[in-house]
Amino acid sequence: MEEQITYLDNNATTRCAVEVVEAMLPFFEQDYGNAASPHLLGRGAAKAVARAREQVAEYLECDAGDVIFGGGATEANNLVLLGMSRRGGPRRKIVTSAIEHKSVLEPLDYLAQQGFAVVQLSVSPTGIVDLAAAEDVIDDDTLLVSVQAANNEVGTLQPIGELAHIAHAHGAAMHCDAAQLLGKVSFSVGQLGADFLSFSSHKAYGPKGVGFLIAGGPFGAKNLPPVLLGGGQESGLRPGTLNVPGIVGTGAACQLCRDLTCEDQARISALRDDLEERLREKLPFVNFACSSGPRLPGTTSMIVPGIPADLLISRVPEVCMSAGSACSSGALSPSHVLIALGYSREDARTAVRLSVGRYNTTEEIAGAATRIADAISGIRGDILSSVSHGAGGTRKERLHELT
Ligand code: PMP
Repeated sequence: MEEQITYLDNNATTRCAVEVVEAMLPFFEQDYGNAASPHLLGRGAAKAVARAREQVAEYLECDAGDVIFGGGATEANNLVLLGMSRRGGPRRKIVTSAIEHKSVLEPLDYLAQQGFAVVQLSVSPTGIVDLAAAEDVIDDDTLLVSVQAANNEVGTLQPIGELAHIAHAHGAAMHCDAAQLLGKVSFSVGQLGADFLSFSSHKAYGPKGVGFLIAGGPFGAKNLPPVLLGGGQESGLRPGTLNVPGIVGTGAACQLCRDLTCEDQARISALRDDLEERLREKLPFVNFACSSGPRLPGTTSMIVPGIPADLLISRVPEVCMSAGSACSSGALSPSHVLIALGYSREDARTAVRLSVGRYNTTEEIAGAATRIADAISGIRGDILSSVSHGAGGTRKERLHELT
């Protein structure tokens, strides 16, 4: 019999909603025009893109004209960070946090090499940036503040409105990588107060490789120097033929989220809490990173003392989960996020991220908790029996690691 898969990796990506796939399909074979072409098929495609832009704007309560479609959050992050660095002028400081996604940290490393002063705000043990430190660091030399809305590994939510307020008080722009917020938490662009927001459609039950930047306010699209040059599409910021099916799917995903996010949020949060409770009950020695502060409803990061995450994941292949973050999986180095949160390198290597989504059920959660707990008990048993004939000190050390 085929193994039943339980997908608990919704922060890595989500299943594309049926409604989204149906909305996209005609744009591959029937309505396949280039949205920049003046003929009938082109005009049809342009109309579909305009509709999708409206759907995004309706969901996030912003101006449709501020929505720049592109390849997703990595691209949007790069467009903002590298674009802002080309504005010229005396401001040379960029403020960020220690727990950003690589698609923010790496462009900022590059800008540091170019002579910008990049300052990383530290986070509390609950994973929240220190607003007092932000007040101290953000000043009139600051060009840009770039802080994520929600962390992809531990799910912590940052005070973006407050940070935007501090940035604006000093004439700096505010960028927020909000990739993990879309479709998981209800919010509006106005509530976040950032000038630039980056999103990927696939995190919110839409297609992969497509997303959008929201660029409004005085720093908006008009004043952001482009990084890519070409045909002038998307206010000149993302030139190139538009991915019409992907954009249509993005609009459909946003419309669905408009109807479902509130309900999803409550249900998913209850499922995540249930998962943590079941795991805690069966495995009293595990702990959950940042579980006492504000975090995404579906995310949990479980630290299992003494058991490397990749070993656990390989023992439960039917439950899809990830070690740290999907992007860092495969790399041997422990997650920079957990290290910034104060975990030791050993504990950080044991972190398993489980992220619940719209299509998970109560039964799946109960089944996954049992399988994970059984696998952990099995691994602990193996480890202890493999050292049972070893030197007393070794066994004692292993026992200590496993608690
Ligand atoms: N930022 C965050 C917080 C993310 O979680 C991700 C996806 N892991 C990205 C940016 C990049 O998204 P994408 O890979 O779709 O460009």
